[in-house]
Amino acid sequence: MNSETKNCQNCKNHFLIEPDDFAFYEKMKVPAPTWCPECRLQRRMIWRNERGLSLRTCDLCGVKTISTYAQDTPFPVYCAPCWRSDKWDALTYGREYDFSKPFFTQFQELFNAVPRPAISQNGTNINSEYANIIQDVKNVYMSSSVIYGCENVYYSANVNSSKEVIDGFNIVNSELMYECIDAQKSYNCAYVYWSKSCVNSRFLLDCSDCQDCFGCVGLRGKSYYIFNAPYSKEEYFKKLEEYNLGDFSKQQEIEQRFWEFTKKFPRRFARVINCKDSTGDDITNSRNVKYSFNVGESENIKYAFRCPVAVKDSMDVTNKGHGEMVYEHAQGGSDPGSNLICILYGSPAINHVSYSDYCGSSSDLFGCIGVKGKSYAILNRLYSKEEYEALVPKIIEHMSAMPYVDDKNRVYKYGEFFPPQFSPFAYNETVANEYFPKSKEQALAFGSTWKEVKHNEYEVTKEASELPDNIKDATDQITKEIIRCSKTGRAYKILPEELAFYQRMNVPLPRLHPDERHRLRFEKRNPLKLWHRTCANCPNEFETSYAPNRPEIVYCEECYQKEII
Ligand SMILES: [Zn+2]
Ligand SMILES: [Zn+2]
Ligand SMILES: [Zn+2]
Repeated sequence: MNSETKNCQNCKNHFLIEPDDFAFYEKMKVPAPTWCPECRLQRRMIWRNERGLSLRTCDLCGVKTISTYAQDTPFPVYCAPCWRSDKWDALTYGREYDFSKPFFTQFQELFNAVPRPAISQNGTNINSEYANIIQDVKNVYMSSSVIYGCENVYYSANVNSSKEVIDGFNIVNSELMYECIDAQKSYNCAYVYWSKSCVNSRFLLDCSDCQDCFGCVGLRGKSYYIFNAPYSKEEYFKKLEEYNLGDFSKQQEIEQRFWEFTKKFPRRFARVINCKDSTGDDITNSRNVKYSFNVGESENIKYAFRCPVAVKDSMDVTNKGHGEMVYEHAQGGSDPGSNLICILYGSPAINHVSYSDYCGSSSDLFGCIGVKGKSYAILNRLYSKEEYEALVPKIIEHMSAMPYVDDKNRVYKYGEFFPPQFSPFAYNETVANEYFPKSKEQALAFGSTWKEVKHNEYEVTKEASELPDNIKDATDQITKEIIRCSKTGRAYKILPEELAFYQRMNVPLPRLHPDERHRLRFEKRNPLKLWHRTCANCPNEFETSYAPNRPEIVYCEECYQKEII
């Protein structure tokens, strides 16, 4: 088989389908894709709203609940306990397949009828109503996806087994962490990035096993270093006092100096650790993983994103662990699943399931929503095994004979993922907008909707510029103020717990709205994209998420190892 260049139905750009890709499509019995990999990733991401939360009424029990859906959805929305309960049955919404209408039209009709869960909160959670995609947590506020086994976490994303975290992103097994990205096994750190096992440190990039270090890059097992220079213990603490970190203007100055300083050091072309034949970024212990990001312990997969463990022989998988033969999967859990095609959300364990959403502990489903613990169902209607096996091939044939065509004239036959118009979320409330920001016009052209952010919901009592410069001058009064973000103009508050944390960490009060702080953390990350480049130090070539026009010095693995360790 040869490779083939195609034109994306959505962005009209060329994309390449390689011989190995065709082998996978043949195995899955799906046609080759008609959207390019990047448009496909966006098309899956618009189904995940992690942070756009509002208050609405549960349509079953009537309680007020925090929800990823606004009040005006066509489908009923149930609070988490109601949705999990057996007070309702998804099969009562079952219907016969209608060969006079496209499959996708029928799926959308079912979608608008079956209840959906307001929010994803599993396990036992205490005082954590305002958080999404959480499990077994206590005191988690305005944080999401996935917050697991944590305590006292605020304005953060993806935090596991950690305590006392504010403004964190990808924090694992750590405590007392402020404004950090990708930190593991660390304690009492602020402004620490892509580092592990660090203690009592500020402003670190790519460091590990460091204690009492400040403004350092690429250090291993060091103590009392400032801007990569060694100091005695006494000198170190004396110097730290001069930096006066609780002071906002000083902090801004140091932050700028730190990022300037980091530019002098080579960056590793990709964090692909202990892998064979793999390309992408943030991949560990894997084999033959191509063009993928945030992947662990996986093999033979391509175009994957956020697959932390054991995904095999799959393509276009996002937010899944333990999967085999999976294609076009938007989100699910880390419970085993195999032979899955076009899944919006699937968990726990589903097998041989296609075109389904919120089904769990089931097998042999086609076009089902909210079905739990069942087999052989189509559009939420049960069949015998024989009936099911006879009907599914006819539907697959019908999907291509009578395809769905959306208002952008994009054609959806069998094998095509759901049209963006079907997502109940606005583009700018989903993770798609975090990784692939679009303007309102671009989002509408994609087929998504757009949500206008309301700015003047609260009466502001203080400008961010009026906040005390030094944290030592902040009193409890500050927790009663409504502050205007100095960049977006949006109102925000500082909670008493937050104030205590900032005082303890000796960091200044934030001047920006939590959403803007989150966006700035995202800006520090590389995009989910690869470019072919040459090492800045030798003729080695590689695929890297550092675009060619970026200022960083990018090294191949060998040159990086020689320089850093
Ligand atoms: Zn495209
Ligand atoms: Zn309820
Ligand atoms: Zn090199």
